[in-house]
Amino acid sequence: MADPLLTFTDEGIYCPQGDFHIDPWRPVDRALITHGHADHARPGHQSYLATHAAAPVMRHRLGDIRLETIGYGEARVQNGVSVSFHPAGHVPGSAQIRVEHRGEVWVVSGDYKVVNDGLSEPFESLRCHAFISECTFGLPVFKWQPQDEIARQINGWWAENAASGKTTILGAYALGKAQRLLCMLDPAIGPILTHGAVENTNVVLRGQGITLPDTTLVTPDLKRGNHPGAIVLAPPSALGTPWARKFGPASDGLASGWMALRGIRRRRAADRGFVVSDHADWEGLNSAIRNTGAERIFVTHGYTEIFRRWLEEQGYDARIVQTAYEGEAADPAEAPE
Ligand SMILES: [Zn+2]
Ligand SMILES: [Zn+2]
Repeated sequence: MADPLLTFTDEGIYCPQGDFHIDPWRPVDRALITHGHADHARPGHQSYLATHAAAPVMRHRLGDIRLETIGYGEARVQNGVSVSFHPAGHVPGSAQIRVEHRGEVWVVSGDYKVVNDGLSEPFESLRCHAFISECTFGLPVFKWQPQDEIARQINGWWAENAASGKTTILGAYALGKAQRLLCMLDPAIGPILTHGAVENTNVVLRGQGITLPDTTLVTPDLKRGNHPGAIVLAPPSALGTPWARKFGPASDGLASGWMALRGIRRRRAADRGFVVSDHADWEGLNSAIRNTGAERIFVTHGYTEIFRRWLEEQGYDARIVQTAYEGEAADPAEAPE
């Protein structure tokens, strides 16, 4: 019997016929990368292939790498295997990778979400025989509210804090989530300040032509009261630190899919939790899988055990694959970027 189109090795997802890896976690010769988050785009590969839109962040993070870029939907043939990248809706530049050989199609989704966040290229549904899916939030309890509703909650909280003389500090991943939130903020409420980690990504994304609202970088000479009514966007790890205390009286909040779980919300000492994720929720995972028409599903990171059983009950040939992907860390302070 011939090798399957994609296999799972110690290095990562591998295509024997095309001789390339997808999001490998150990150094390889040819790495196809779905997106720039650290658990997917790792250092040390001989060569990289990613979308034009994912490249600037990867160069920023990984330095001088041999990186070729490709447009969405463009096909490249390697040893008779055709590969193409398609929007995953996760963060700007993120892709699902479609692999085709002699009429057989496999899709590696990387990380994805099916709702349009207004910033990332919207998720594209692909037909395939086998689909490799994350399932970070593969439980029915994870159900995201519409983005407008989240924006209303965050802006309402910010306006309230501003009216009572408090600074608002919102913790979110520095790559993707922070910029998505930035686009949801109402600048009429007050100035928008940024932590260096967030601003670094803003600079990279603006440099590739993505429009983001104006922000002011927090510098050491910032004085208390300089920016009344401000909101500060920072990585979750900055919350509760001396850095955060220099803003004086403040209310802090966290934006993460895990805020849907009350236990985690309580354990994290933020004043507010907003349920916002760049991963698909339960319904998103199920609809994405349904729409592929695939019979074989491989689940990677997240609630793999439960989700695999659920898929099997739905009639799929569902298997778990051990990977080194981390999804959205349950403690947002330890989140991979
Ligand atoms: Zn990711
Ligand atoms: Zn991931």
